[in-house]
Amino acid sequence: MEFEAVIGLEVHCQLKTQSKIFCNCSADFGAPPNTHTCPVCLGMPGVLPVLNKKVVDYALKLALSTNCTINKKNVFARKHYFYPDLPKGYQISQYELPIAEHGWIEIETPKGGKRRIGITRIHMEEDAGKLIHHDTRPISYVDLNRTGTPLLEIVSEPDIRTPEEAGEYLKRLRELVRYLGISDGNMEEGSLRCDANISLRPKGETKFGTKAELKNMNSFRHVQRALEYEIRRQTALLLDGKQVEQETRLWDEARGVTLPMRGKEEAHDYRYFPDPDLVPLEIDEAWIKEIKKTLPELPQEKRRRFVEEYGLGSDDAMVLTSSKELAEFFEATLKGFNEPKKVANWIMVELMKFLNQDGIEIHECRVTPTHMAELLGLIEKGTISGKMAKEVLEKVYKTGTSPGEIVEKEGLSQVSDEDTLHAVCQEVMDENPKEVEKYRAGKKKVIGFLVGQVMKKTKGKANPKRVNEILIELLG
Ligand code: ADP
Ligand code: MG
Ligand code: ZN
Repeated sequence: MEFEAVIGLEVHCQLKTQSKIFCNCSADFGAPPNTHTCPVCLGMPGVLPVLNKKVVDYALKLALSTNCTINKKNVFARKHYFYPDLPKGYQISQYELPIAEHGWIEIETPKGGKRRIGITRIHMEEDAGKLIHHDTRPISYVDLNRTGTPLLEIVSEPDIRTPEEAGEYLKRLRELVRYLGISDGNMEEGSLRCDANISLRPKGETKFGTKAELKNMNSFRHVQRALEYEIRRQTALLLDGKQVEQETRLWDEARGVTLPMRGKEEAHDYRYFPDPDLVPLEIDEAWIKEIKKTLPELPQEKRRRFVEEYGLGSDDAMVLTSSKELAEFFEATLKGFNEPKKVANWIMVELMKFLNQDGIEIHECRVTPTHMAELLGLIEKGTISGKMAKEVLEKVYKTGTSPGEIVEKEGLSQVSDEDTLHAVCQEVMDENPKEVEKYRAGKKKVIGFLVGQVMKKTKGKANPKRVNEILIELLG
């Protein structure tokens, strides 16, 4: 029997606001433990939460960019559970009326097609603190700096069918929150956290099977590996005539397996009810309109435009729009050197080679669009060869010095002065009488050797095409 996977993702996205969601404590990470706290986020009795407007702005940005319907009236709810790093004993979240519902994100399938993954809901909520467990002794510490930092939870429909699609969906979502500037979208650092729900059903069946929920995956690769493992595990159970338990499982990256963590709670276990300390949030048309005006060109629109306006292939457009900064770099370079395909190639092949080696992003490197355009201009003018340009680019990358200055200082410009070139060619012919004879006897191939000798003598600074021409002339 063949099975099909049904996957739905719940993603928590930490927002890059300055202050927390219900108090004015800083939402920055990295401060000494428990220094970004106040009576509100410490859950002291008698305090009242005040909603941070920025969190709503950010939620609206994401909702509008994911084709969601916005609930003009939405409600905060208390979700009860006990954690040592949740001092109030409940988390303020949204339940029956979230800020946004019924959207979708478009993903590319491996075969080059497109598929819409439905978004069930987006809601706003606060984060809990952090427990830090002692390495060797049975002691845990609690740091409440993160308590009350703002999150968006984005719940997908069970529309995803393969681990690759899950990875693709996450990539599109991360790209989106980064373009919108609402989150770092960094999974390794926990600003994007993903729980994956997965069940299997026989191919052709329309009813869903029982799902397991996977937690503790902090990279795209982990999500994919965990889902692949889970498909194998559930397939084996079902083929054996057994049932999949509804439960929460943890991904153990070191062992490459998922392990049971706890039985799955039901919604009623949380005793959700509307938070009486917060009035329902009302969003009017004017607010939505104001947010719409701030939306940047989104990745998908940019991709389409790059293909149409610059004649790029869709794969290249995909790479160049993978971050807003990279797309801006590309377009800024075009201002100084207007040949899109050449610019695209130099950025994607040569510049990105260095970025990948160092694991940094385009805006973190020393090469500027002006440098890039200048470099391509130098090749175009014949001042340097393409091969030399690669070396120059490496120097620009390492030092931040402009290509022109490097060429000038290191005397790298091509020898294109005709007299010099003629003299060197003659010299090489004199030193290699046998090759000259062979050439004249019809073995035209030896010209390659002679060009090589000229290049050697000029330390690679001669224009090989011109050398070839001069040699033919002299040998003829
Ligand atoms: P729960 O109440 O258990 O958290 P939800 O209905 O809220 O379940 O769904 C949580 C996530 O699980 C959503 O992303 C949803 O798409 C996904 N999901 C729901 N049912 C299934 C299923 N049978 N198989 C796989 N994923 C599912
Ligand atoms: Mg859930
Ligand atoms: Zn606070």
